[in-house]
Amino acid sequence: MKRYGWLVVVAVVGGCAVVLAQEAPAGAKMQGRAIVLHAARLLDVSAGKIVAPGEVLVEGERIVAAGTSVEHPAGAEVIDLGDTTLMPGLIDAHVHLFLHPGAEDLQTVEESVPQRTIIATLAAKADLMAGFTAERDMGTEGAGSADTAVMRAIDEGLIPGPRLRISGNAVDILGGHEDANRFNPAQHVLSNADYANTAEEIVAVIREQHKQGSTFVKMYETGPDSMVKGEFHTPYQYTEAQLQAGVEEAARLGMNVGVHAQGEPGTLYAAEAGVASIDHATQLSDETMRLMKEKHIPAVPTFTIFEYFAEHAASPAAAEREKAMLEYKIHEFKRQVAAGVPMAVGSDVGPFPHGTQAKEFELMVQYGMTPVAVLQADYLNGAQILRWQGQIGELKAGYYADLVAVPGNPLEDITAVERVGFVMKGGVVYKQGIGNREQRLVFRVWAWPRAHLLEQLSLRRAGGRARGSVHG
Ligand SMILES: [Zn+2]
Repeated sequence: MKRYGWLVVVAVVGGCAVVLAQEAPAGAKMQGRAIVLHAARLLDVSAGKIVAPGEVLVEGERIVAAGTSVEHPAGAEVIDLGDTTLMPGLIDAHVHLFLHPGAEDLQTVEESVPQRTIIATLAAKADLMAGFTAERDMGTEGAGSADTAVMRAIDEGLIPGPRLRISGNAVDILGGHEDANRFNPAQHVLSNADYANTAEEIVAVIREQHKQGSTFVKMYETGPDSMVKGEFHTPYQYTEAQLQAGVEEAARLGMNVGVHAQGEPGTLYAAEAGVASIDHATQLSDETMRLMKEKHIPAVPTFTIFEYFAEHAASPAAAEREKAMLEYKIHEFKRQVAAGVPMAVGSDVGPFPHGTQAKEFELMVQYGMTPVAVLQADYLNGAQILRWQGQIGELKAGYYADLVAVPGNPLEDITAVERVGFVMKGGVVYKQGIGNREQRLVFRVWAWPRAHLLEQLSLRRAGGRARGSVHG
């Protein structure tokens, strides 16, 4: 592949002119070429400490070596990231690529699935550029299996985005948390989730979603929520046995189940059923916390969305309710941290702007965890929930070369993760806004990862579309 500058391709697809402007990487990326990353510091995730300096040797999509110094093979491209800290790519265990800021319920009614899918590709790019190289998309909210198309386009190198675990729609009961409950019944407004009212229906829905490309299962276990005289209430949706049917069917298909579960007794049922994560997890009883510790089921607190709703409420009364909810949540979170409940980092981004969700790290520190504990929760428990354990979340030989660099020391100032200046995913540089001067290219956006655009198009025209590995 020869070195090239600005590449502008005009392709005529189905009568529509598509213009794609692309800046190629300075060192025209080739499969298998060695890259050495050098920075002032490197985060050793499992040891929970910073080493200095930091170097990582990357070949193809994998890390070959990482530490204070690595071999510099002849011909390797050396990228000096200067006074930064090298870390694994961030993991967001709870996102919604198919949501954007605005009236959440109405956007899923008013916007078509194709329109939402186009916006979702922009969301995926924004998240990746903010340093999130792996995400679990917790339901398309009525866009069905459109997330399969987004995931496969990312995996094939057609569009930039994190590696994804996807669920299609979430699973919900009739009249449940995500059903279209408050509309004129004569309008037959569709649910944002797939209905399942019995264990048999749960199994059938999971099979249908998996046929359409899902790689995990999202179930709604509680809602609607209310605060009455400082007491939090939320009805459960599925019994422990019904959740267990979902967990077993997901496992049979090589998947796991993440639940939206705000409080008791739904959170207990979820822990008993052995789900992969309990998301939001606002209210956990002593017994639920004990089970989560014993089975190593992380809670995903999603503080950023609660804070966002409290700050962007439609009325003063709504703002009061949201603030009371956040206060209660913070109080309970402190109990959970003291009890040693495993945590993971998930922001629920979508209702607030994609690419801004690293705020979640800051809030988890603000509400009682240490920076190192939050980072380990993100990387280690995030990799566990996303079923990429031993593949992502650490800078180790054999892991995917998913890396970010941040200014400063994140163990001293966690807000460093909100200023990601360098992003590599699978050995491909997607963002390089920091480092030595000749390599400083702010928004030197992404390179075509595995295949050249023209190759992709000619393959398609020849009808010989080669698909890479698809997630199991
Ligand atoms: Zn969510």
